[in-house]
Amino acid sequence: MSAGVVIVGGGQAGFSVASTLRACGYDGPLTLFGAEPHLPYQRPPLSKKAHTGPDGPEVALVPESFYRERDIALRLDDEVVSLDPAARTVLARSGARVPYTRLVLATGARNRPLPVPGAGLPGVHAVRSLDDALAVGAALATARDVVVVGGGFIGLELARVALAHGARVTVVELAGRLLGRALSPELEPRLRERHERSGVRVLTGTAVQALEGSRRVERVVTSAGVLPADLVVYGIGAAPRDELARDAGLAVDDGVLVDERLCSVSDPWISAVGDCARAPHPHAAGPVRLESVQNATDQGTLVGRRLAGRPPEPYTGLPWFWSDQGDVKLRIAGLRAPSDDVRLAAGDSPERLAAYAFRDGLLTAVETLNWPAEHLAARRLLERGTPVTAAELAGTTLGALARARRTTEVRT
Ligand SMILES: Cc1cc2nc3c(=O)[nH]c(=O)nc-3n(C[C@H](O)[C@H](O)[C@H](O)COP(=O)(O)OP(=O)(O)OC[C@H]3O[C@@H](n4cnc5c(N)ncnc54)[C@H](O)[C@@H]3O)c2cc1C
Repeated sequence: MSAGVVIVGGGQAGFSVASTLRACGYDGPLTLFGAEPHLPYQRPPLSKKAHTGPDGPEVALVPESFYRERDIALRLDDEVVSLDPAARTVLARSGARVPYTRLVLATGARNRPLPVPGAGLPGVHAVRSLDDALAVGAALATARDVVVVGGGFIGLELARVALAHGARVTVVELAGRLLGRALSPELEPRLRERHERSGVRVLTGTAVQALEGSRRVERVVTSAGVLPADLVVYGIGAAPRDELARDAGLAVDDGVLVDERLCSVSDPWISAVGDCARAPHPHAAGPVRLESVQNATDQGTLVGRRLAGRPPEPYTGLPWFWSDQGDVKLRIAGLRAPSDDVRLAAGDSPERLAAYAFRDGLLTAVETLNWPAEHLAARRLLERGTPVTAAELAGTTLGALARARRTTEVRT
């Protein structure tokens, strides 16, 4: 077998690398390994609606013909179990040993397990894969009392999905507020209030101590009392799948350590992208590992272009994220540091809110609730690196500011 580019991980980032390589004219051998039996698919829909279809074809990124037409060798249901950087080969569970000229690790992340007794009972689920989402979709058909453990993005999305199915829903969060460090403390009460208004019960500062039931889960024991539950869904964070790299002797620190071109800092023939990679970023103080579609797609595109022979570029893509929690559309642009000053502003309807984060008087990040136009304006301004001061934004919006700046540019 002649060597070419091998991508380990058939998710959002791996797909982005493969499709970019072909789009940029790379015509050598190209192999994409996926541990799951499904075609590469998008994960965001998994927690935003109940999935009941037999195989969820609606979430596939592209149909199977896309890979065939581009001569991308898809090796699905075949997990790579080890790497040999000296011999430049990977070994798959099927026994196949595949040589590479360049290797890309796009192995994603896995859910952190729930560390309490009873976590293995039937009726207890986490959602990461399509199969997980199908299992939750089936359970929701009969669930009456749903307990969501973890008030993060995925937990809150699933809470609203369960509520829409007519279940009584309680979210139990260990920290004192929802969405931990991901959302500013200034905006969090507004988000919480919207979920509570819709009918979700929210318990923060509450520890889950055990899950109990005779044949399947029946109740959740917490530090605030016992909750009835016929379905428990947990989302308490994810850990990078970086063990292949670690076992092969590559530098790893809660993610595969890569440089600004997304090359492993230990081996220039190996790159890492998406949830499994920790990379330097101009918007962050140190190397960061981001879990978002934007990051997976943009990093995949950057590596695909480089491996196809385009000049190497540093990774500078503006981080942005969305989360649809029932009628609450949360959008985040930029990276907020805990020490940033945050100012809340209301839009022209009571549903629209923004939290502007400033560092040294300059805008660094914007969180919005149900205000897509302000999110897009924030992305445009932050992507261009156009400085926005707190004084400029007083009493106005980013949308209005951007329009005013465009008018000035046209006049001058
Ligand atoms: C339920 C859910 C909802 C989400 N919602 C949003 C959202 O609303 N907005 C947003 O921006 N982001 C969202 N995300 C995050 C986003 O989906 C991820 O950041 C993105 O999928 C990361 O892409 P990736 O390719 O790095 O990893 P993944 O998409 O996880 O793909 C990695 C793939 O690699 C495979 N793999 C791992 N190890 C091996 C191996 N050794 N051999 C072969 N294959 C392997 C895995 O099975 C997996 O299929 C969500 C994530 C989840 C789980």
